[in-house]
Parts: sequence; C-alpha cells; structure tokens
Amino acid sequence: MDRRLFCRSAVAAGVAAAFLPACGKQTPEATQVDTSIAAVSLDGAELELEKAAIKELGEAMSGPVMLSGHPQYDGARTIWNGMHDKRPALIARCMSADDVSKAVTFAAERDLLVAVRGGGHSWPGKSVCDGGLMIDLSQMNTVTADAETQRARSEGGALLGALDAAALEKGLVTTAGVVSHTGVGGFTLGGGFGRLNRKYGLAVDNVTGAQIVTADGVVRNISAEQDPDLFWAIRGGGGNFGVVTGFEFQLYPFERNLLSGSILWPVAQARDVLEFYAEWSAGLSDEMYVGPVMAQLPEVGDVIVMDVVYNGDPAAGEKELAPLRAIGKPIADAVTMQDYTVMQTNSDVAFGHGIRSYAKNGMVKEWSQGLVDALVDAYDPRLFLANHVAGGAVKRVGETDTAFPHRNAEIMLVFAAGWGDPAMDDELIAATRALYKAVEPYMGGYYDNIDFDGHEAAGNYGPAYQRLTAVKGQYDPGNLFRLNSNIAPAA
Ligand SMILES: Cc1cc2nc3c(=O)[nH]c(=O)nc-3n(C[C@H](O)[C@H](O)[C@H](O)COP(=O)(O)OP(=O)(O)OC[C@H]3O[C@@H](n4cnc5c(N)ncnc54)[C@H](O)[C@@H]3O)c2cc1C
Repeated sequence: MDRRLFCRSAVAAGVAAAFLPACGKQTPEATQVDTSIAAVSLDGAELELEKAAIKELGEAMSGPVMLSGHPQYDGARTIWNGMHDKRPALIARCMSADDVSKAVTFAAERDLLVAVRGGGHSWPGKSVCDGGLMIDLSQMNTVTADAETQRARSEGGALLGALDAAALEKGLVTTAGVVSHTGVGGFTLGGGFGRLNRKYGLAVDNVTGAQIVTADGVVRNISAEQDPDLFWAIRGGGGNFGVVTGFEFQLYPFERNLLSGSILWPVAQARDVLEFYAEWSAGLSDEMYVGPVMAQLPEVGDVIVMDVVYNGDPAAGEKELAPLRAIGKPIADAVTMQDYTVMQTNSDVAFGHGIRSYAKNGMVKEWSQGLVDALVDAYDPRLFLANHVAGGAVKRVGETDTAFPHRNAEIMLVFAAGWGDPAMDDELIAATRALYKAVEPYMGGYYDNIDFDGHEAAGNYGPAYQRLTAVKGQYDPGNLFRLNSNIAPAA
C-alpha cells in the first residue's frame, strides 16, 4: 500500500472528521463517519486502528490526538529539514509524562510504528514517519533553573534557546548547541556539543537525572543511583530507550558578557589559516573554543571563518587569540566583548526551518597536513564546512563512562548543503557525499545526531555497543523506539 496515498485519501479525511470530537473540535461531520484508520506496523505491515480506540486515547490524554485534516496536524508533522514530508497516521500531542505513557502503551499494544518528536531538528528526519504514531513533545517545552542547587530542569520537547535563557537569567549556564531552535531532547540524548563543552563537557556529561517513559509505558525517574544502566545508556544512546519527558542539568556560574565573534579570511588564505590552526589548536586552554568554517557568504564571497568564544578572563583570551589574529590578512575581525546569546543565536536565521538540507560528519582525532590539504583542495562553494570543537573536558571523560563513544576526538567536521529547490536534491546530496569522501581518510567515527547515512551503529558505538544492546534488550525488547540510530535489543 502507498502510505502517503492512504493518508491523503477521502477515507483518511473522513476518519479525521470522525475523530475530531476527541480533540474537542466538534463538527457536524464528526458523527457521520464510522470507520477504522489504516496505519503501519513496526515492521512495515498494514494495520487497522479502530476508531473507538483512537477516540479513547484522545479522551484519556490531556493533549489532542490529531489525524490528517486536524488544523494543527500539518504544523505538528513538519520538522526542520524540508526534505522530510511525511504523514503519520496519528499524532499524539503530549502535555505530560502521563500523556506520553498512554501514547506509548497505545502503540506498543498494537505494534504500531512510533516516531518521537522533540525539537524536530533531526537532519535525517527520524522524528516523523509515514503511517505511524508521532509522539509530539513540542508543547512540553518548559525549562526552569534554580540558582541555589545550580540545576536546570527541562521538559523533553524544550528548545536549546529556552535552556540558555532559563540558566542565564540566574547567572548560570550549561553546554547547549549553536542554533537556539534545536531541541534539548535529541541534542542531549546523542551527545550535545556546544561552545562551552571544552570547559563543562558535552550535554550528556551534565545530565544529573532524567524522567523517561519506557516501552512498557512506565514513567521512570532515573539517575546514577536509580536505574543506572538506563541512565548510562540515554547519555549518548539517543532515543533508543524510551521517551525522555524531562532532563535535569548541572549549571555553572557564568559571565555572559564574553570575548567572542568571528574572524574572516578570503578562502584563498584557507591553507595558511588551517595549517596554523592545526598546530595551534592542540595547545589551547579549556576556556578557548575556536573552530573553522568554510562557506560562500552572500556579498562577501568564499571565506574561511574562525568562530571564537572565550569563556574566561577577556585579557587572557585576547592574549591566547593573538597568534591566530596575526595570520594572513583577515577581511574582518569581529571578535569583541558581547553577550553570549549573540553567538548562540547568530545562525538561527541561516539555519531556518523549512530549508532542505543534507549533512555528513566525521570525528577527527588529530590534525595533519593531509587533512588540511584535503579540506582546501576539496572545498566546494555550493556546500559549507562546519564543525563542533571537542577536546578539553570532553576528552577527559572515560570512553565508556557514558554511552557517547567519541571521547578521543579533537573536532567533529560537518559537511553540509542547504537549499530550497527540490530539483537540486540529487546534485547537492552527491556533492556533499563527494566532499565527505575526500576527507574521510582523516576521520574515524561519526556523530549520530548529524548523519543521513550512518548505519553502522555497532561499529560507531565501539566499546559501548554491547552494553547498549543489553540495556535495549531489557527496556525495549520489541524495538518500539527504532527511528533513531538504532541499537539492536539483545535477546
Ligand atoms: C540547525 C541545526 C543545528 C544543530 N546544532 C547542533 C549543535 O550545536 N550541537 C549538537 O550536538 N548537535 C547539533 N545539531 C544536531 C542535533 O543535535 C540533532 O539534530 C538532534 O537530534 C536534534 O534534536 P531535536 O530534539 O531537535 O530533534 P528531533 O528531530 O525531535 O529528534 C531527533 C531524534 O531524537 C529523538 N528524540 C528527540 N527528543 C526525544 C525525547 N525527548 N525522548 C526520546 N527521543 C527523543 C527523536 O525520536 C529522533 O530520533 C544541530 C542540528 C541542526 C539541524
């Protein structure tokens, strides 16, 4: 069966009308249709979902259950990457852990395909599906911070901007990513790189507790003391183990006005800049976060950019940065004292919702001349090179202390394209793959959170994989949560 066709069919529209009462949207048509709805099982088989059961779910939940035709259905199924136009059979818009538990139980009892939507930034589109149940956490988006305990509590569907804002208001901070409309959920479960991670570690290193709904529908509060294996697994193992409805993060006292900004050189100087960076970056302090970007900027042209955030005494930062500033002839040097949120939001528009995008990435353990040459020689103005710098505190955590596997990396390189016209899909995907291939010999392992084609979960998780399969086998033996970098449940 063509699942998309189904969802667009008159039957689906009729069912939508039939279901509207449970969503509090009574219409005259609502009582006229009495049918079931077609859906897709975990293994892709056709399923029939009884109207009465869907209605019961909608009545039991505090948030709405939405079918095609519901006024908020299209908004809920639309995720950040415009490449993914998928139509779930139903969307459970959850308002609480109890709602999530009911939705999970509904799916588990029927072997129904499940997608979990946090912030909706999955590059490869794992948070939406055709024909299954989307568990939509977008309304569970509250973040609070406590100055006394220096902890933040975030609901599972919150965005990183809310995490930054809640902490900063109290003069505190934790590691958050570089685009403020990314979700706390997927970001944290996969690792969580950010501009402060050399000092405070990855997001997973700062999770002190979580609330999770596992495949049996049980709501569990987990920590290093409570369900420690599960707590270990969610810190790097992605959404494999359940729906995380809440996170608790460690916060740190923070001076938000800091030395930060970008230095730009023409791309013709990229080799000089990268050769210098390859040596210089190995000896940087934990306070210094600086990494290279190569891109074509409108009205500027092809450039190599160094993004800088210095989380410490500005005078010491100026001194540490001086050698980089002396390289070549920059077009602009905009590193200055400014509020942390300037950098934390300055890519929000460029990475706006609806863009079509494809990305690959790889972990670099050590810079080399070969890597510099490959980046310079393979530069493609249709694409951009981005990065997440690691090292520092990221590297000091033991390889199997969390499920995040790439502790040895100095930097993650991201190769990506963003465009609007679907006619460009094939060309730009092929170009991104070619660029990645040229640099691949200098990288090892990849970040699950930013990859379309990474199907090597076993190899990529390295020594963590066996324990991950055991935890998966214990908490999700039927692999209900499979739309992620999937870990096979141990028998
Ligand atoms: C523009 C952009 C900028 C980015 N910047 C960074 C960055 O600075 N640092 C970084 O480390 N990564 C970054 N990423 C990658 C990012 O970490 C992943 O895309 C991440 O998965 C996004 O999480 P989300 O909740 O928004 O995504 P979603 O699309 O909602 O979900 C992604 C995956 O996580 C699962 N998931 C989400 N929330 C939950 C939950 N609460 N419980 C269980 N499973 C859940 C989903 O099922 C899915 O498998 C960026 C991505 C984009 C598109």
